[in-house]
Amino acid sequence: MKEYQGNLIKMNSGLKNNQVSYSLKLEDEDIEMNHFLDKSISLVYQNRINCINCGKETKKSFGQGFCYQCFTTAPQADECVLRPDKCKAHLGISRDVAWSDSHCLQPHIVYLAVSGGLKVGVTRLSQVPARWVDQGATKAIKLCEAPNRHIAGVIEKYLMQSFGDKTNWKKMVTNGNVPDFDLMAEKKKAVELLPSELKRYVLSSDNEVFEFEYPVLKWPEKPQQENLDKNPEVNGVLKGIKGQYLLFGHQTVFNVRRFSGYAVKLKVE
Ligand SMILES: [Zn+2]
Repeated sequence: MKEYQGNLIKMNSGLKNNQVSYSLKLEDEDIEMNHFLDKSISLVYQNRINCINCGKETKKSFGQGFCYQCFTTAPQADECVLRPDKCKAHLGISRDVAWSDSHCLQPHIVYLAVSGGLKVGVTRLSQVPARWVDQGATKAIKLCEAPNRHIAGVIEKYLMQSFGDKTNWKKMVTNGNVPDFDLMAEKKKAVELLPSELKRYVLSSDNEVFEFEYPVLKWPEKPQQENLDKNPEVNGVLKGIKGQYLLFGHQTVFNVRRFSGYAVKLKVE
């Protein structure tokens, strides 16, 4: 039996060829999560949430791990994180100019990814391919490279109606009934939908299709989400990890990122 404790934070991913591995940092320990496959683990909520930005204790988590103060003032929780087209950093308007210089005003990629279904998304160039793994994508292709977050967001908005922009977590964690999309063909369709002034951002010669394989021994069929606010103890045999979800043998799944900032004890058989 091994025991760890600390505040939950998004797992880090590594890639070797197409194989995904995960590590979870609790206090100063980097825990290799793939080693826990087929083992009984338990996560026990310690009834304390610390803001992932300032570290202060907060009764409630806002925007996946922030205290209210940081949620309303920190650049990491600004509107443009979820709505890239709303980013105003290129106009000199942001919560923190230094932060937006190094985040919003950097090259961004618009991509198509298969994670549950086919979707369009935006990420900073330096976040490729980690962002795709965080979403549990099985495949992805780059569509466009834009000089900043705003332009990438405008391109994404053009494509949202045809491709959707959300990940269906149930489909993502069950890996079931997802058509084998031909991403090259889908990219062609997407490019045709763009108005001419946005076509210049298309990456027409970079058509690599990225593929990812997740450490999963058994897929859940009818998954239910664990919720530390309602049930402070999550127990089970770890059968897989995909995206930011731990998949348990008894059909429940736990979204690690959703509980960012929650203090837990992690015990492994
Ligand atoms: Zn805070």
